[in-house]
Amino acid sequence: MRLPCLLQPGILKEAIKAIFKGPYTTKFPFKPHEPFERFRGKPEFHAEDCIGCGACFQVCPAKAIEMKDIGNKRILTVHWDLCIFCGNCQANCLTEKGIVLSKEFDLATTEKREDLYQSIEKELIQCSFCKENIAPSAQLAWVAKKLGTMVFSNTSLMLFYLAEENLTEIKGLPDKETPTLRSDRFRILCPKCRREAVLKS
Ligand code: SF4
Ligand code: SF4
Repeated sequence: MRLPCLLQPGILKEAIKAIFKGPYTTKFPFKPHEPFERFRGKPEFHAEDCIGCGACFQVCPAKAIEMKDIGNKRILTVHWDLCIFCGNCQANCLTEKGIVLSKEFDLATTEKREDLYQSIEKELIQCSFCKENIAPSAQLAWVAKKLGTMVFSNTSLMLFYLAEENLTEIKGLPDKETPTLRSDRFRILCPKCRREAVLKS
């Protein structure tokens, strides 16, 4: 014989517990739902902690993060309409705080889905000769801090670090297109121009 629902094993116990603890369901949408700890909601850039390295762009499986270098600016954009909330970007962020998944999940809109994005800009350091972009200045500063005294083993990084500390000035544009003098080595250079500087000087 089939027992009434409340008399089935475990059900009565759960029903009594629910009297004291209250219902398991939430009152959403009448009351905001509070997601649980470590909930993976909308990813957001935190400009002050992002160094513009682009690791999040590289690892995003849904191609929801876009990275464009325009002139001396790097623009990073996260498109929430493409995001699958996997958390890869946060897990692989160099600073661990540059992009963080928030608890926000209610992204439905009657506006255009293309408007669901957040962009941040980072300044890029360029080669003194060919103007090729080298890396974001925030990333160089972060690497220099991590390296400590070892920063003096890389000329471009050392010059950048000393300029940041107001101990030297970054030299202006040279009046020639390729480095030829020994002194040209003491400029911020891309790998190609540094090779030329070493070979020709
Ligand atoms: S959570 Fe996943 S899909 Fe969304 S932006 Fe980050 S890496 Fe891309
Ligand atoms: S610091 Fe983090 S958020 Fe910024 S570009 Fe690098 S991986 Fe992305």
